[in-house]
Amino acid sequence: MTDKTIHKTIIIGSGPAGLTAAIYAARANLDPIVFEGNQPGGQLTITTDVENYPGFPDGVLGPDMIDLFRKQAQKFGAECFYKHVSKVDFSSSPLKVYVQDEEYLAESVIISTGASARMLGLEAEKELMGHGISTCATCDGYFFKDKEIVVVGGGDSAMEEASFLTKFASKVTLIHRREDFRASKIMIDRVLDNPKIEIIKNAVVTDILGSQKDGVSSIILKDTIDGKERNFDCDGVFYGIGHKPNTDQFKDIINLDDQGYIITNPGSTLTNVAGVFACGDVQDSHYRQAITAAGSGCMASIDAEKYLEDL
Ligand code: NAP
Repeated sequence: MTDKTIHKTIIIGSGPAGLTAAIYAARANLDPIVFEGNQPGGQLTITTDVENYPGFPDGVLGPDMIDLFRKQAQKFGAECFYKHVSKVDFSSSPLKVYVQDEEYLAESVIISTGASARMLGLEAEKELMGHGISTCATCDGYFFKDKEIVVVGGGDSAMEEASFLTKFASKVTLIHRREDFRASKIMIDRVLDNPKIEIIKNAVVTDILGSQKDGVSSIILKDTIDGKERNFDCDGVFYGIGHKPNTDQFKDIINLDDQGYIITNPGSTLTNVAGVFACGDVQDSHYRQAITAAGSGCMASIDAEKYLEDL
């Protein structure tokens, strides 16, 4: 199916970046359509309290915040669809965006596809993801009441997950692959002060054992100093090892950096393709906050508006 309309702006992705772009684009009469993707609302929908977004002194639940963003965008005329963009063709104008075999045309495209949780790449993930392995403590912590669980990682996410999981688990073991943590001091201190958390440093998880029926039973831990492996009993494994940008559809089409993030011109959201703009975590491996994503979504919309005006 081809939608013959040439849209002024198509927005791909619906986290704070995409929905802020939608608010600004709608208010600028760009009649944006938003393809929300496989995880509408993005990472905020698998978060609980957001306490650092200005304007919410009492905090706000991530999914509620996304609902407010979406409502605000729709109020000004943005159209949001629960569709996942599988392919793009930016080789000529109008730009082409595909949802499976549906083709959509646009004069400008704003990419805000965000980032996804990184995996360890173990064979066991195929069988046990969602059956004892999780990438989201806030989503799955509840299922591990009075259980012993492991959190992998040494950054702020791992610290945050470990602390959060002690609300449910009887014991949390944080496993980090080297001696020094990457996390900020305040987050590390919170973990160190928590009597339910034990820390194992200089160790990597080389296998996770269990079954879909009974969940995780143990992991194999390898000491990175002496190379020795040992079995470690636990009921669940949470990954807090960072994220990777969702840019598979844009490989060889838009310039990406060596980690796969979209490269934008400094101080703007311009990509190397005319009329294509990128905002939010898909182009930001550093700040990765809802507020910075929203800010760059605003920038993308203004950049797109200027581009369309100049056409
Ligand atoms: P991150 O800072 O990139 O940390 C990832 C951690 O996972 C690192 O400790 C890394 O080890 C480890 N890791 C990566 N791949 C691994 C692998 N294959 N096996 C074992 N360990 C692996 O990611 P993040 O913690 O998700 O944080 C991302 C950004 O969000 C940061 O800027 C962070 O400050 C921010 N954030 C802030 C908060 C907060 O303030 N409330 C909460 C969450 C995140 P190495 O250290 O050895 O590389």
